[in-house]
Amino acid sequence: MNQLCWCGNPDLRDFSPGYWRCDICSTLISKSFPSGDITAITDEDGDFYGKKYWLEHQVEKLGLETIEQRSRSDLLDRCGWWLAKLLEFSLPPAQLLEIGCSHGGFLGLAELAGFRVTGIELSPWVADFARQSFGVDVRTGPIERQVFQRGSFDAICMFDVLEHLQDPVRTLECCAHALTPNGVLLVQTPQYPVRTDLGELQEAKHPFLKMLLPDEHLFLFSDESVKRLLSEVGFPTYEFLPARFAHYDMMFVAAKGLLSGNPVRTQLEALEKSASGRLTRGFLSSFQQNIELQAQRNDLHASLGRAYQDVERLHGWLADARTEADDRRKDADDRLQVIERLSEELRQAYAERDQLRIERDQLRIERDELRERTTIRGLSKHLVKQLISGIKRKPLP
Ligand SMILES: [Zn+2]
Repeated sequence: MNQLCWCGNPDLRDFSPGYWRCDICSTLISKSFPSGDITAITDEDGDFYGKKYWLEHQVEKLGLETIEQRSRSDLLDRCGWWLAKLLEFSLPPAQLLEIGCSHGGFLGLAELAGFRVTGIELSPWVADFARQSFGVDVRTGPIERQVFQRGSFDAICMFDVLEHLQDPVRTLECCAHALTPNGVLLVQTPQYPVRTDLGELQEAKHPFLKMLLPDEHLFLFSDESVKRLLSEVGFPTYEFLPARFAHYDMMFVAAKGLLSGNPVRTQLEALEKSASGRLTRGFLSSFQQNIELQAQRNDLHASLGRAYQDVERLHGWLADARTEADDRRKDADDRLQVIERLSEELRQAYAERDQLRIERDQLRIERDELRERTTIRGLSKHLVKQLISGIKRKPLP
């Protein structure tokens, strides 16, 4: 194993079939780490982050929508969230750079809000898709190969990008270079629950498990390792924010100097300065309501799920009770049959007894008669003897 952690630690521990773990900073490191530079797309069909990644890989391997579908659904699903978080720390007409802007939906929305936007994307095909879909300025290639002057941007955003980077230290150093002294870096990335083992995550059925995609998620950071990373690359100030999908993602904002948030009123005033900004304000309001409705719907689904489980459990109990009642009924039937059989045997025994009594009485009668007859016969013999002896003793005349 020659793979190092981004922090430089070569002593990595086995975490899962696809990942090592760095125990110094608590980052997961892919075991499928590419050896060459994957950021130069010369073959849209053959290079990993070429056209096929967006049209086939994400659909077939990850179960996501195509980039065309996502250019619509992401606006309502996540882009509004990201813009709302950006406005908390940066206001239009700030210069904004999005690294890995994909279909360009977020950039389009930010431009509508009044930001001056630039995007970068690896695939020329995707960059062109974003230009055509949202009319935004998109450059091709990683930030390391761009020629941005120091302090070109007031804000840099990276949503679902950090985990794909081969050299996050260098990329974030480029960000620090391209940001103004008061600029902010806004990032969303999966959150590895710090210092947990695979077994613990599996036992908890943790949603982060679906982020274990070693072919593309090269570094999976924990909150602990992200803090270390930011400090090392020139962002000593940071703040964690609520992520749109907080059960497996984290979101944070970082700055080279002080980090100051914008009051809501100031954010609204900044949007009110243009017609498209006012439209964006309306969109964000609807987005927030939609998110709240989704949360309520999810709570309702969870309640329904629990109720369904209760009903299932009750069905189980009912089935068990029925089985037990059937068993008891069968047992009672068996016992009843035994009682009936014993009763029948008892009836027969009584009948035999009565018959035997009759026969006994009959025998008694016969015995008595026999005795009587025997007595009469004996008496007769005696009398005959008496008579005969009397006759013999009587002198002859
Ligand atoms: Zn490390």
